[in-house]
Amino acid sequence: MDRLMVDGNAVAGLLQEVFAVEITTAIGTCNTCGATDAVGALHVFRGAGIVMRCPHCDNALVTIVKDDTRLWIGFAGVRTLQVTV
Ligand SMILES: [Zn+2]
Repeated sequence: MDRLMVDGNAVAGLLQEVFAVEITTAIGTCNTCGATDAVGALHVFRGAGIVMRCPHCDNALVTIVKDDTRLWIGFAGVRTLQVTV
């Protein structure tokens, strides 16, 4: 693993501020390669924001930017997100 990269479990608390479900076990489908993985298995890179990448093809699945009062989440690289309700 890259030294700047952690797995999706590292942003569980941040994502649970938005999603009322256990998001780390949600299953995402990559829009580029079609692979499916739990959110907790994605590769997470932190910089000015957060980028969650597909562990199979490195596609940027989710982008997250947060300031003191707002959160922007982009799902441009996700085909579907399956959550247990
Ligand atoms: Zn992929």
